[in-house]
Amino acid sequence: MSRINEHYHKLQAGYLFPEIGRRVGAFQNDHPEAALIRLGIGDVTLPLAPAIVEAMKAAVDEMASDEGFRGYGPENGYEFLVDAIREHDYAPRGVEIARDEVFVSDGSKQDSGNIQEIFAQDIRIAVTDPVYPVYVDTNVMAGRTGNADDDGRYEGLVYLPATEDNGFMPGPPSEAVDLVYLCSPNNPTGAVASREDLEAWVSWACEHGTVLIFDAAYDAFIQDESLPRSIYEIEGARRCAIEMRSFSKRAGFTGIRCAYTVIPAELTGSTSSGESVELRSLWSRRHATKFNSVPYPVQRAAEAVFSPDGQEQTRQQVAYYMANAAQLREGLAAAGMTVFGGENAPYIWIRTPRGLSSWDFFDRLLEEAQVVCTPGSGFGASGEGYARISAFNSHENVAEAIRRIEKAFGS
Ligand SMILES: *Cc1c(COP(=O)(O)O)cnc(C)c1O
Repeated sequence: MSRINEHYHKLQAGYLFPEIGRRVGAFQNDHPEAALIRLGIGDVTLPLAPAIVEAMKAAVDEMASDEGFRGYGPENGYEFLVDAIREHDYAPRGVEIARDEVFVSDGSKQDSGNIQEIFAQDIRIAVTDPVYPVYVDTNVMAGRTGNADDDGRYEGLVYLPATEDNGFMPGPPSEAVDLVYLCSPNNPTGAVASREDLEAWVSWACEHGTVLIFDAAYDAFIQDESLPRSIYEIEGARRCAIEMRSFSKRAGFTGIRCAYTVIPAELTGSTSSGESVELRSLWSRRHATKFNSVPYPVQRAAEAVFSPDGQEQTRQQVAYYMANAAQLREGLAAAGMTVFGGENAPYIWIRTPRGLSSWDFFDRLLEEAQVVCTPGSGFGASGEGYARISAFNSHENVAEAIRRIEKAFGS
């Protein structure tokens, strides 16, 4: 028999979303008439914007002709998309990114999960707590951790608690680490890093030779124009940061799949003999070996996100979700809950009322309001006593959910 990778057995059983599914399924079984409102899962709900659909259809038609047919594309993305990214996501913010620093992919989940492959086995890794589980689980699978303790914290990882006291944006640890995963605007807490927060991280990382993985999947949800959208707006970040962005949340691409990672030329790592190596050359090698680029029609669709119509239509979609977030903040506060986030992110992070545990609150919310949330403890030990409420839903469902929550929990 083939031996398996036993590091997989260290992964926490009964993982968050299956457990939510199990509890929701059991509730529906007992209450088939209940009209559930799902404010749990982080997936978009609005249909694709017309400009995107048109571009994708036109690209499919091109593929149906002798002249327009294309087979394998360039591994790191078509130049038209790479240039659109540079021109629209970076140049207006004063950030210059070269073509060979952009790597188009089929998702930031994959990129944030795969990036660990280009680092040594024994590096020290820090994550925030609560955290997007992909960063942790992929390092567990790769054998970089020991077992999890009773709170779900893996031996060998450095956890940086995100708490009310630090505004859910922990600063650099006191000990040296090699790699840190940061996410802003944050999933799950909805917190956003200020310029000062990022400056502190970048100067610390440059000083210690630490690499920052900056996951900006929700950058389009930033409402406060004075906040940085890219970590490269911070002096020195080109020497220490890898940035990941996705078309998933900003333009409804969760089912279409397109994202990108930026690795600046200056960003290097070292071999055991002390030789310095460009990280982008390793990632490029990985891409060329294990990935065969994103479908042409999908890259044309992503390009259309930057067209004047595409920008306007996706801006309206983001505004739609952010109007939900504002309603939720207000309504949940009116129901007596302490709310965080939701101002520059599509997630509201609430302190559970009456000292309920995250899962007890989940059950109460399900039973008394027929609303599904995500228990904060599922994202890490420091999430205990909190819950995540998502703004990805219709205005009508959000208004109805608020009515029910006020009735169930309001005084
Ligand atoms: C949704 C999400 C992503 C995007 O993932 P894709 O694979 O591009 O759909 C990345 N990071 C975080 C934290 C997310 O919540």
